[in-house]
Amino acid sequence: MKEIKVRFAPSPTGYLHVGGLRTALYNYLFAKKNNGKFVLRIEDTDQKRYVEGAVENLISTLKECGLNYDEGPGIDGPAVPYVQSERTDLYRKHSNELLEKDFAYPCFCSEDTLAKMREEQKENNETPMYDRRCRNIPVDEAKERMKNESHVLRLKMPLEGETVFKDIIRGVIKIQNSQVDDQVLLKSDGFPTYHLANVVDDHYMGITHVIRGEEWLLSVPKHLKLYEMLGWEIPEFAHLPLLLNPDRSKLSKRQGDVAVEDFLQKGYLTEALVNFVALLGWSPGNDQEIFSMEELVQSFNLAKVNKAGAVFDVNKLQWMNGQYLRKLNDEKLVEFLYPFVEKAGFDVSDKKLVSQAILSVKNSVLTGSEISNYVSLFFEDELKIEENEAVQVIKTDEASLVVKALQDEIQKIEQLDLNSFKNIMKNVQNTTGVKGKNLWMSVRVAMTGMTRGPELPNIIEAFGKEKIEKFLDIVLDKYI
Ligand code: GLU
Repeated sequence: MKEIKVRFAPSPTGYLHVGGLRTALYNYLFAKKNNGKFVLRIEDTDQKRYVEGAVENLISTLKECGLNYDEGPGIDGPAVPYVQSERTDLYRKHSNELLEKDFAYPCFCSEDTLAKMREEQKENNETPMYDRRCRNIPVDEAKERMKNESHVLRLKMPLEGETVFKDIIRGVIKIQNSQVDDQVLLKSDGFPTYHLANVVDDHYMGITHVIRGEEWLLSVPKHLKLYEMLGWEIPEFAHLPLLLNPDRSKLSKRQGDVAVEDFLQKGYLTEALVNFVALLGWSPGNDQEIFSMEELVQSFNLAKVNKAGAVFDVNKLQWMNGQYLRKLNDEKLVEFLYPFVEKAGFDVSDKKLVSQAILSVKNSVLTGSEISNYVSLFFEDELKIEENEAVQVIKTDEASLVVKALQDEIQKIEQLDLNSFKNIMKNVQNTTGVKGKNLWMSVRVAMTGMTRGPELPNIIEAFGKEKIEKFLDIVLDKYI
């Protein structure tokens, strides 16, 4: 049997979109599951969109996420270059072949002419597409004009009939040929368009399965025609569902982060992000949600990917990241979160204090960037109660009784540690009659300013009597 080979073929636009990460991941999982190869190809033929450093950034982000490719740029010894701008001769060779065989024709229409055409079509409520006027220029005349007139090469799509093909995820798809444009294959600058380069490369690289985003589904008829005209074997296709915002619009930068790099900078772990995107459009058919890469390889099934768009729920991603943070041991957790404490501008010279601060939220922190909200009280002598819920708690009569009693009890003892704190809490409960959640929440807000965040035992250990007394004074003075 032929070796399975898939590719991730991003255009280097400057960052890796989470949708791109999902496409790369599904390709990777499919390759690994089938003992096949996963290829990275850089589709950079649109020179106008060139962004400095984008390719390096893509490669390092993919590697950071554990998506190591078997062939591609930046790794040892690829048999063919995997960057399209280095392969233009090959594309030109095949566009010439298509021209010779009368499968393509030169088009001399200027940008202005095309823009007018589109305008008129829009006014007449027609779908904007090339009206094929240059297709009728006699071959000899066209050849003459090509010598000194700027032109592009266009694909001669059949004018009638329909293209029928099978998509692994979507089943049988039928598209009327009359709705398919005579696609530009070669631009006037001699560079190929995506469509030509993509097909030529998939052929030369021996790609057996094309797994990519839904936005390319309507391009398949053009691609199939090219395979047919060039006499090449056709790969299988699988088009992945769109990623959506919670309001079901297409996932966009306007509604939040979309770049993998942004998520990593905000303190998401790559494993959590990969696990999360794996479930955007695919599920294992049971309620398992946490998967290692190995487990994903075992369970992934391309045919079971959904057709319907997948909602990108950032709350779920946060939850999942929390799950992954909980799996780290104390040392690894401190190592991962340390830079976020530093970035937040706190004085990190006392390493022990930084560890104490981080470990105080080890059961609740969801992302790296969130930590700065929780740990400021470790680095400052100021206590602020700003969170709405905390303000409500501290305003209650019960809280006022509790905080006063707590202050009295603490004043009576020499040293505040976990043992003495237990006794203090018993006494506070007895003298005030407040217990359970009301008691503990009042104490927590009085000592941390928050309803959620650092745990009390960690606070007691790190701060001791003096600092806690100071905090209680502030609370009684300013908030009660
Ligand atoms: N360069 C295209 C993109 O960035 C690749 C599409 C495909 O995989 O064919 O989406």
